[in-house]
Formats: sequence, structure tokens, C-alpha cells
Amino acid sequence: MKLTLQLRSFLALAGLLVALLLAINLALGLFLPPYLRSRIESDLERQTLLARAALAAVPPDQLNAIAARLHSETGLRVTVIAPDGKVIAESDKKPDELAAIENHLYRHEIQDALRNGAGHARRHSDTIGVDLAYCAVRAPQGFVRLALPLHEIAATTGHVQRTVAVASLVVGLLAIPSTYWLTRRIVRPISEMREIAGHVARGDFARQAPEHLSGELGELAGALNDMSRQLETRLRELSEEKASLAAVLAGMTEGVLVTDAAGRIRLINRALREQFQLGDESLGKTALEVFRNVELEQLIAAPGARELTFLTPTERTFAVNAADLRNKTGTVVVFHDITRLKQLENVRKEFVANVSHELRTPLSLIKGCIETLLDDPPPDAASAHGFLQTIQRHSRRLELLVEDLLNISALESQRAQLNFAPVALRELAAAVADELAPQARDKNIAVAVEMPPDLSAARADAERLRQVFVNLLDNALKYTPPGGHVAVTARAGAGEIECCIADDGPGIAPEHLPRIFERFYRVDKARSRELGGTGLGLSIVKHIVQSHGGRVWAESRVGEGSRFCFTLPI
Ligand code: ADP
Repeated sequence: MKLTLQLRSFLALAGLLVALLLAINLALGLFLPPYLRSRIESDLERQTLLARAALAAVPPDQLNAIAARLHSETGLRVTVIAPDGKVIAESDKKPDELAAIENHLYRHEIQDALRNGAGHARRHSDTIGVDLAYCAVRAPQGFVRLALPLHEIAATTGHVQRTVAVASLVVGLLAIPSTYWLTRRIVRPISEMREIAGHVARGDFARQAPEHLSGELGELAGALNDMSRQLETRLRELSEEKASLAAVLAGMTEGVLVTDAAGRIRLINRALREQFQLGDESLGKTALEVFRNVELEQLIAAPGARELTFLTPTERTFAVNAADLRNKTGTVVVFHDITRLKQLENVRKEFVANVSHELRTPLSLIKGCIETLLDDPPPDAASAHGFLQTIQRHSRRLELLVEDLLNISALESQRAQLNFAPVALRELAAAVADELAPQARDKNIAVAVEMPPDLSAARADAERLRQVFVNLLDNALKYTPPGGHVAVTARAGAGEIECCIADDGPGIAPEHLPRIFERFYRVDKARSRELGGTGLGLSIVKHIVQSHGGRVWAESRVGEGSRFCFTLPI
């Protein structure tokens, strides 16, 4: 059974009270009888001295009668003993019985009186058959001795002890309920406050300690209520702070990782979980176990900033910043995904290199021709004409290249706003075919525009769409050998129009197909250049189609022909 504080206090107080009363009774039992005895003995000695004075002038023949009278008046036994120990008067005996009493000279009290003038003894009297306390003093007759029955001492002690015991019982019985009431009065508010403290510890701040109590208990209750209020405010502030921090962390596009001082992961925000496909099982592990990247581990150990590349789940590059938390209780690491930036940077570098390369060839050819023309002696007229034609061809190539570059740059910078309007594809394709008819005629290629007359209009920028048709049709005419066929077809699909330009030219090998829409990618560089290609035509097509929300692709079989298709939303 669990003892409550009240029960314990009550039992302790009651125990203390009982122990106190027992101790009083025990002390009385132990110390009262000897004390009473010593008091009685000193009284007895004084009474003996009085008896000696009373008996001093009494003639010997009347001694026994006077002794008997003293006895009847005081209740004390009186004995007069001659210096040789013979009893000459005895209050309990008749004169004729005195001779039969044995000699008292060697009685302890007589010997004592002989030595010290007064002597005491306690013993059983054979003469009268009871326990007696004796006191003897020297007297003119020899010795006077008084005796008091000891049972009187026992009776006095017993009476005092009984009185005290009854008083103790009464005090005990009266004190127990009041002790109970007192402990209850003190302990009850304490228990109540303990209970309230328990509620506060569990985060329940609704209950208040009773502040009406007086004294220290009232102060304690007030302090408890204060503490509870402050705790509640702090907790609310903390949870609000925590919620806003959680919202910030969750809303961040950057990944955030927090580790403790031992390098174990304490927090991963949503962005980081998504970027690395992590779950709660990563919590408590080290960054090395989770990310398998030694450089990240080093960065956490020695915070700073670094660019790190992770290979799983996909290859990505991050600008990673690590900083110590306050008091070095851990590290916070922020992951900024710069994969796309890196890719763009690479694309840009590659583009600049490609452009420079594309420009250099025609420029150096033109420069060479000019230098030859300026030679001394100058070349003959026929050769000079040839050089001028080369210059013309390559300047034309430069012009085309710059035109395509400007197109691409306009498309990419999105400066070129698209003017969307319904466009009739059939008419547009027919117009482009007409435009390129001379080229087709030169190579004896049949171009057929086979589109249904009721084809819905596409939502597009007419000028840009014209460029798509020109580039695709131009490619078909360029790469298809003389006598070939080119067909432009279209059909309406779900919410879009699919348009294809097919030829029966040389076709494109499967390994090149996925790359032909890249800038400057050519299957056969020399042939493309010879035909006046810049390597940018298809990438411009892709750009335009995608900015219209459409898709573009190529299908081909080597030796059978190629088919370039794109879709446009209706
Ligand atoms: P280019 O200016 O070289 O034609 P494009 O971007 O228009 O550049 O085309 C890229 C490459 O795709 C071309 O060099 C060519 O090798 C190939 N190609 C494009 N169209 C066709 C086609 N109709 N038939 C065969 N090959 C083609």
C-alpha cells in the first residue's frame, strides 16, 4: 500500500506522541520509586531524630509504653536498643516478649549508626514479617530505630504511575484526532499542489493552485501558478516558433540537413527528402551512411562552402553550404541545386566554341582568297573570278549562319514574342512549297502537299511556323537525291494537329537520330556544308515547335527516307 504524505505525517506525529507518553511513563516507573524512597528515608531520619528527642527523658520502665503510643499515633514502628544490641523497647511487642527478641547489635542500620551516628537499611522483618525501611540513630539509651513498611512506598509510586498513565491515555486520545486534523490541514494543499505540478509537467495548464492559503503555502501556490503561466507562455512561443521554422524549412526549395554534434542526422527538410528520395529512416544515421559522399562528411566536420556532385539517385551538382549551430551543438547544411545552371553553363560554352568554329572556316577561306587576289603579280582573270565566287559562297554561308544565330538567340531570350492566331496549315505549307519550287525543280523532286481541306486551324505564330516548314522542306530537298519525292501531310489528333514532311532520300542512321535536333549536329559535316547547311535548322524547328507547346521527332530508315513530324495544339 502506498502511504500518502498525510498518512505518513499523521503516523509520524502520532508515533512521536505515543513514544513521548511511553517515555514519560517509563521514566516515572524508573526514577520515581528511588526518588520517593530517598525522600521517605530522609523523612524517616528526621522522624527518628524526633523520636529520639521524645524518648530521651523517658524512664526505662515506661519506654515500651511510649514506643507503643508513638506507633499508634504515627503508624511507625519504634524500637529502642541498648548499646550492647539488646532490644529494650519495641512498639509492636509487649514488655514480656522483649527478652525473646534476638540481639540487634549486628543489624546493618545499627552498625551504620555506630559508625556514622545514623544508619539506614531495608529488609524483611522477621519480627513482624513485612518488608521495612529502617533508620537508626545513636540515643542516650543506646539506639532509637524507626521502621516504615515498604508497601507504603510501593502504594505511593503505584498511585502516581497510575495517575500519569491515565493522564497519558486521555492526552493521547484527545491528541490523535487533532493531530490528524492538523496534518490534513498542512498536507492537503501540498498534495493538491503536487497534483497540479503533475498536470503542468504534462502540459495541462488549466488548473490553478489555491492562492488563498496563508503563509508559506500561499506563497508556494502563487509561485507555482506563476511558473505554470510562464511555462505556458514560453511553450506557446516555442511551438509557434517551431511551426514557423517548420513552414520555412518545408517551403524552401533548397535542401536543408541538420546534424547533431556527433554528426548524426536530426532533420531533413522536404526539398532534400525529394531530391535524394530519403525518408525518416535516415534520421539518426550519419551523412556518410545516407549520402555516401566523403566530401560532404568532410564539409560537415569542417563547415564551409563547396560544390559537390552526387551520383545517386541521378547525377546532380549542388552548391553546399555548411555552418555550425550555436555552441557547436551540430551543423546545418544547405543544398542549392545548381545542376541546371551547370548544364546551361556547359551548353553555353559548347555553343560559343561551336559558333567560333563555324565562323572561322568561312572567314579563313575568304581571307585566303583575298590574299591571293592581292598577290603580286595578281592571278589571271579566270582564277580571280573563281576566287571571287568562293568569297561570295562563303559570305553567303556566313550570312545564313548569322541569320540562324540571330533566330536562335531571339527564340531563346524570349524577346521574340509569339503572336498566336489561328493558322491554316494547308495554305501555309502550299505557300512554302511554292517558294521552294525552283529548288525542287532544279533537282527534279516532286513535292506533294496532301492535307485534308477541312483541317482545323492551328493556334500558332504564322511567321515562326513558316520557318518550320521552310527548314524541314529545305532539308528534304537538300538531302534527297534528284528524282526523289517529298510529301507534306497532316492529320487532326486529340486536341492537336500532327504534321509530317517525308522524303525518300538517304535516311538517317539510328545512332544519329536522337541527336539531330541538337545545335550544330550534322550526320555528314562536309556534305551539310557543301549544301549550305548551318547545322542549326532542326534546332530552330525544335525550339519553335516547343514554344508552341508541341512535340517534334524524326523517324528514318537508312536508304528508304526520313520523316520529320511535329504537333501543334488546335
Ligand atoms: P543542316 O543545316 O546541316 O541541314 P539541320 O539542323 O537542318 O542542319 O540538320 C541536321 C542534320 O540532320 C543534317 O546535317 C543532316 O545530316 C540531317 N538531316 C536533316 N534532314 C534530313 C533529311 N531530310 N534527310 C537526311 N538527313 C537529314
